[in-house]
Amino acid sequence: MTSRDVLDCDLIVIGGGMAGMTAAARAAEAGARVVVVEKAPQIGGSAVLSGGYVWTATSQAEIDRHDDGDPALHRVVIEEYPHVMSWLRSRMDVGAPVRALYGRGQQVDMWSYMRFCTRTVEGAGGFVVPETEVSHILMEDGAVVGAITTHADGDTELRAPRILLATGGFQADPDLRAQYIHPAARGMRLRSNPNSTGGGLRLGLAAGSAVAGPNSGYYGHLLARGCPMRGDSDFVRYTQYHSIHGVLLNRRGQRFCDESFDDHASSHLTLRQPGAVALLVWDEQVQREHGVVPVVVGAEAQDRHANAMLAGCPGGVFDSLEAVGGFAQSLGYDGAACVASLQAYNELMRTAPDQAVPPRETNARPLDRGPWYVLEVDSAITFTYCGLATDDQARALDPFGAPIPGLFVAGADVGNAYRKGYAGGLALAATFAFRAMRSAGF
Ligand SMILES: Cc1cc2nc3c(=O)[nH]c(=O)nc-3n(C[C@H](O)[C@H](O)[C@H](O)COP(=O)(O)OP(=O)(O)OC[C@H]3O[C@@H](n4cnc5c(N)ncnc54)[C@H](O)[C@@H]3O)c2cc1C
Repeated sequence: MTSRDVLDCDLIVIGGGMAGMTAAARAAEAGARVVVVEKAPQIGGSAVLSGGYVWTATSQAEIDRHDDGDPALHRVVIEEYPHVMSWLRSRMDVGAPVRALYGRGQQVDMWSYMRFCTRTVEGAGGFVVPETEVSHILMEDGAVVGAITTHADGDTELRAPRILLATGGFQADPDLRAQYIHPAARGMRLRSNPNSTGGGLRLGLAAGSAVAGPNSGYYGHLLARGCPMRGDSDFVRYTQYHSIHGVLLNRRGQRFCDESFDDHASSHLTLRQPGAVALLVWDEQVQREHGVVPVVVGAEAQDRHANAMLAGCPGGVFDSLEAVGGFAQSLGYDGAACVASLQAYNELMRTAPDQAVPPRETNARPLDRGPWYVLEVDSAITFTYCGLATDDQARALDPFGAPIPGLFVAGADVGNAYRKGYAGGLALAATFAFRAMRSAGF
């Protein structure tokens, strides 16, 4: 395409990651001519950095139990998931079913999948165009009619009656994080592709869509504070998935969450603590049974405490809770309060675990088998939960709840599908891509 070209197509997809490429391939298989506009030099987004586990909960009740996002959007994930998996299985090699968190999933090689989707789009006469952005969406009488794309070679006018926003959220934009998540989120580290800076959110708002889910959580994790973030292997190497078996203390030496709920939820709550940091403490039994065990069966086993210590992150291994307190004090925590909280926690777990405040729903055992492992942790974000108001047909909604004709949303650009919990990122992307294409008539 050269400067000032005008190109007609059936569908414009903005963002070539899991949601965008799934939707594009699905539409192309139905005979649609699709143009995928990708900002980065190559497609794939966070999907190609991911573990590739396309997983979700086994029922809507399970998602509803873990998360307080919109149940109608949870239902989309549950209803479309079997269709997504059977479609993937008939086109790709997929791994054996495995347990993932509280659900089930199968692993897909994301690079192979991206190549398959690209071939499918191009085979139907479409294009996948990297290093290109959309400056604005063209509307006539309140409906989508196309978009202007910008590329080093110049602008292009794409004419299409349907657009899918699939830019993967706004986690890479510190201002949007501060505005829509929490002021402390401005300084949060990024654990994803660097290109999801809210392009979909801005384009959607400019086209009349509303925001859904401000001040909610996000999908992220607790990482050893100050650890390197050089790429996806570092994202996994320093993520403290086993925090659900430990205790988190803030600088006042107090527990502030049910650590057993999930590491990503503890990440939101750590962000809201003084200094946006916490001390994660676990004992030798947790270290042996969880600290060195892969989070999903088949993934690489790593000693995540040792990784952090090798990288010079604040932490250590201590022979007594008093020594833990001394170390906490040296980092600026109230060391005596930390010791008191750990002793009180252990006593409650032995005698009356249901009386713990904050509660401890699961993994309710005392941390009394030394030595004790300690790391200072902070939060890193993988993708945002706040996004564009979207209905269960994957249509963008205006502030009055009316669909904007021709404008669809999928993946992390969907707002309020999750709020505090998590039931899969790749599944959220692929299921909304499927639903969007159904609604778009493909
Ligand atoms: C280390 C890591 C491990 C993970 N492991 C898993 C896992 O095993 N299972 C799981 O379910 N989830 C996992 N995830 C999360 C999962 O990768 C994401 O939830 C999923 O990729 C989101 O899909 P998406 O299409 O919304 O965004 P992405 O896949 O990130 O795609 C968004 C695309 O949009 C492009 N883009 C951004 N802005 C613009 C713009 N303005 N114009 C054009 N293009 C734009 C981006 O460059 C990117 O290519 C993991 C993520 C990471 C980082």
